[in-house]
Amino acid sequence: MTDSRAKRIKDFIEPLRVTPGRKVTLARDFDPAYKAGWLTKKDGVELLQQGVELLAEYQTRLAAQDTYGVVVVLQALDAGGKDGTIRHVMSGVNPQGVRVEGFKVPSAEDLDHDFLWRYQRRLPARGQIGIFNRSHYEEVLVVRVHPEVLAAQKLPKAARRGDIWKRRYREINDWERYLTDNGFKIVKLFLNLSKDEQRRRFLARIEVPEKNWKFSAADVRERGYWDDYQKVFSEMLSHTSTDWAPWHVIPADHKWFARISASAIIASALMEIDPQFPEVSAEAREALQAEKVVLEAEAT
Ligand code: AMP
Ligand code: MG
Repeated sequence: MTDSRAKRIKDFIEPLRVTPGRKVTLARDFDPAYKAGWLTKKDGVELLQQGVELLAEYQTRLAAQDTYGVVVVLQALDAGGKDGTIRHVMSGVNPQGVRVEGFKVPSAEDLDHDFLWRYQRRLPARGQIGIFNRSHYEEVLVVRVHPEVLAAQKLPKAARRGDIWKRRYREINDWERYLTDNGFKIVKLFLNLSKDEQRRRFLARIEVPEKNWKFSAADVRERGYWDDYQKVFSEMLSHTSTDWAPWHVIPADHKWFARISASAIIASALMEIDPQFPEVSAEAREALQAEKVVLEAEAT
């Protein structure tokens, strides 16, 4: 890996990173249609291909070293492009090294536990990349927008008192710090979609028969809470972008740009880990040579 390539990637993703401690107002601070000026869709195809190859190379090393794990957290509103991003960005990697975990409405068993329980259970192992399609952040998003969802969480009275959201931000930050300290890197991606582009994508899901399955009336109902979601996203970004696990806000109105951005951010995280193939000791190498002699002697 040349340093200049690493630097180019870092420079590219820098404007997308949320500086820890910064107070974010989504509508003011991040443009969903941003595409770094100089990029055309055609450049984008090539860049994405490079990103995909880079990820494949690093994933092999991550698995071989078997020390670090990576958790990619993907959050977005409906039609934000989470599924497509996963499909494209991970298209080159060995499926054995990746686990994709989607989080939907919690089950009765989930609700019988603390709010982080179900996420903890589905973390990747060392050497793996885990992708959270929705994540523990739903606990301060959909749960915050819909008080009835919180009401269903079976919390004791004391756990509902005071500023429950500040407390959850702190608990999430602590949990991510604990994971980071133990060798699990958290890469957080928020796909930032505009209201008008969501409208267009919903319409396409209604008009194109092959896309009908992706659409539900509930999606339009959630769209009715657009402003509430913008507010809770802003709060989430303001309180949970940390030195150990910063957020990235990915402009999502151009799918191709969102995909390049996601692959660049994940690649950059892997570069920071810089996983290495394990060194083979002189003894082990000698043993390999001995095996080689045995195998060669078997040739007819
Ligand atoms: P989708 O990802 O579009 O298939 O939908 C999954 C649904 O599950 C979304 O409507 C989410 O808001 C919902 N969901 C995900 N996590 C939670 C959670 N922790 N509590 C309540 N609803 C959730
Ligand atoms: Mg949906």
